[in-house]
Amino acid sequence: MPPLGQAGGGHNRPTAERRRQIRRSLAKRDGACCFYCGTAFADLAEATLDHLIPQVQIPGWKLANLVLACYPCNQAKAGMLPQGFLRPVGRFAPGLRPRPTLLDRLRAALMRLPLAVRRAGGRRSLGAGVSA
Ligand SMILES: [Zn+2]
Repeated sequence: MPPLGQAGGGHNRPTAERRRQIRRSLAKRDGACCFYCGTAFADLAEATLDHLIPQVQIPGWKLANLVLACYPCNQAKAGMLPQGFLRPVGRFAPGLRPRPTLLDRLRAALMRLPLAVRRAGGRRSLGAGVSA
């Protein structure tokens, strides 16, 4: 089991081919659109891979902690926790309109996380506050 402190940052970034595979898997799971604003990707190469919970807290590139995001959303979210990034409808940046189902999808994604958290070293405190 790798120590938590070692895996942060992008040192273990997957290869370009692996990232393509990850984007395909995520598109199959969540649809070929930005997880946050719902913008559809004409080409999956436009999509960025976003860590739902920042990598410093869940190291690695597990699918359970990854979503497809458009570049503006990925930049806007940066290292924030998803619940910090989600804003009330109407407060999204111009052109970034949340889908009605966004919260449902976020909830489903967060439900998948406990396993990833345990595998990353069991920082259960991350789950606090997201179960409401
Ligand atoms: Zn977006």
